[in-house]
Amino acid sequence: MIIAVDFDGTLVEHRYPAIGKEIPYAFETLKILQQKGHKLILWTYRTGDSLTEAVEYCKKKGVEFWAVNESYPGENREKNRGRKINAEIYIDDRNIGGLVSWTEILQLLHPEDYDLESLYKKNIKRNVLRRFFDRLRQ
Ligand SMILES: [Mg+2]
Repeated sequence: MIIAVDFDGTLVEHRYPAIGKEIPYAFETLKILQQKGHKLILWTYRTGDSLTEAVEYCKKKGVEFWAVNESYPGENREKNRGRKINAEIYIDDRNIGGLVSWTEILQLLHPEDYDLESLYKKNIKRNVLRRFFDRLRQ
């Protein structure tokens, strides 16, 4: 699936134009979603330097997006005048009802998949996953 993900208030606490503290398990979840083959788009109000800072921050956290503020890599946004990008799922703290936790997001997208061993075989650190799933099961 193509999943659009907001930055401020969704991946990090809302401190725009600064970068707030990471929302628990946000980046662990994004890594799992990427490993499951989802295409992630960073979809944010940020532009220019503040956008670059957000992209670099995510890269440091181990997540590189498939596209940034565009519906697919290399989209001509000048030509495509619609402001909303095209995605199948949007994850945003301004959702009606608010942002559910990142552990719930993974559960909603992959209710069938709680097989720790198969995830361990992929490239995610065991201790990160252990903490993640311990929390999920609380
Ligand atoms: Mg936001």
